[in-house]
Amino acid sequence: MGALMENFDIHISGGTIVDGTRVPRFKSDLWIKDGKIAKIGGRTSASSDRTIDATGKIVAPGFVDLHTHYDAQIRWDPWCTISGYHGVTSVVLGNCGFGFAPVRPDFQERSMLTMTRTEAIPFESMKQGMDWDWETIPEYLDSLERIPKGVNVIQYMPTASLMTYVMGLEKAKAGEPANQAEREEMARLLHEGMDAGLCGFSIQRLGENSVQADYDGSPMVTDIMCDEDILNLARVLSDRDEGFIQITQGTGDIRSDIAFLEKLAAVAKRPILHNVVAPSRQDPEVHRRPLRWIDKCWDAGLPVYAQCGTGRAGFAFTLEHWNLYDASPAWRAVTTGTKEEKIEKMKDPELRKALVAEAAEADRRLQVIQAGVGGNPKGLVVQGVNRQANLQQYVGKSVGDIAQAEGKHHVEVMLDLSLAGDLNVEFLGPDKGSNASFMAEMMNDSPYAIPGVSDGGAHTKFFTGGAYTTDFLTWLVRDEGVVTLEEAHYRLSALAAHAAGFRDRGTLKEGSAADVLVYDMEELEILPNWIGDVEYDLPGGEWRRVQRAKGYKQIIVNGEITFEDGECTSATPGKLLRHGSAESI
Ligand SMILES: [Zn+2]
Repeated sequence: MGALMENFDIHISGGTIVDGTRVPRFKSDLWIKDGKIAKIGGRTSASSDRTIDATGKIVAPGFVDLHTHYDAQIRWDPWCTISGYHGVTSVVLGNCGFGFAPVRPDFQERSMLTMTRTEAIPFESMKQGMDWDWETIPEYLDSLERIPKGVNVIQYMPTASLMTYVMGLEKAKAGEPANQAEREEMARLLHEGMDAGLCGFSIQRLGENSVQADYDGSPMVTDIMCDEDILNLARVLSDRDEGFIQITQGTGDIRSDIAFLEKLAAVAKRPILHNVVAPSRQDPEVHRRPLRWIDKCWDAGLPVYAQCGTGRAGFAFTLEHWNLYDASPAWRAVTTGTKEEKIEKMKDPELRKALVAEAAEADRRLQVIQAGVGGNPKGLVVQGVNRQANLQQYVGKSVGDIAQAEGKHHVEVMLDLSLAGDLNVEFLGPDKGSNASFMAEMMNDSPYAIPGVSDGGAHTKFFTGGAYTTDFLTWLVRDEGVVTLEEAHYRLSALAAHAAGFRDRGTLKEGSAADVLVYDMEELEILPNWIGDVEYDLPGGEWRRVQRAKGYKQIIVNGEITFEDGECTSATPGKLLRHGSAESI
């Protein structure tokens, strides 16, 4: 056969390429063929099926989101929105130790119940939206491979699922160490999962008073697991010299937490993603301290990355759905159970007394969490009152101001208002209040800082963290001018991809997977820009909050356009990346 005239699938013409490697932006055309970037720069007489005029636009690698909980949602929403709306083309599933495999058939329902609380995913949506055709991790990965996907995915071993599978729920929940046979079995199953293409394992270890508890308010099994059971899994990665560990550890004793994380990195000899480093509004030591520690880790040969919290998603919540005060035992007691049970508990004088008594302690313990969820409850503003005329007077007022005017404790104000409004009274975090120069310092000065945290798919009735990518570009790059565009795309794609083991993604180079964004920097916007709109687009008639994006002209995954001017094209070119790649290795 003679040489065929080369024909490209997509020609992106006239754009400014920011390729994710941090080299200065350059004007160049880019051609895509068979899901890969075929050519950057130069000219060709070959034709293309589609030409995108990118004059005046940025052409950049798709974003890589390391901290998501789309495990359930990807089964009814292949594009993992809202992340998909915001230029994310690859996600990591199974974060924080939570997931749906390995799971025995008789534990499916219970594992969904767990997710209703720890990640606040509606039960009916999971029940109707998930088709359980797996038990083991290899079967689960096969299932993930089969379903249509609009983004690429890699998957952690969810350690809570593994422990429950091997030890049984009761023993795992009791916080007992695994015995030798159980340890061997967990190691064997992790090996089996890694053989099938997992990217590593994940753990949330937040102690007895975990902010992300089980559905009954008890800690998740990983919250109270012992060091040795984690190190047992770390040895598997060390033996294989592959894989990545995501860990959210905060047991209350910072010294022992740090000592353990260092030990974990030393035993695994693999990269660790430490969750979460987020700046406070005023005290720079809140982010400088952990980043200094991470520098020290690297000096000692320990590869630790910081999963930073860079987004400024607003919180608007009702006490019917809220779970992010779960680190407080008194709040946890009052806000678990059915809606009716919650109402009864909020009326109970003893429980109310406990809440008030614990308020100061809860403030202290929740300080770090509250920094991300709207600050002290006194600063929350009443945003909606269940359309009840008799409560209208409270709209727009802060909980603290109402407390003062009525001579009540601010916790009582929240409870009384909620009860009067059938738990549909909505509280709003006061302002974005984030400190741009602290964010810039993290992103410019630490080589190990990765932006996030979307928590995509989780807490969807009050949180829209999936917009963090657009927020980063519009806020820190365009409006504040404190992070360069080159640095932004390196952090949002290349560094994240490298840390998590994506092999051929995160940068634009010839031969790489064609995950490409074409966007207009001036038009880029989050819609609505503070609190998400309520949309009833979940299975089971459930709703969530949604922030869409404006300004992304094309979002391209493996060479196919998934979104064009904010509209989904219905294409599902996403792939399961076993061992970090769509190619067999
Ligand atoms: Zn998480």
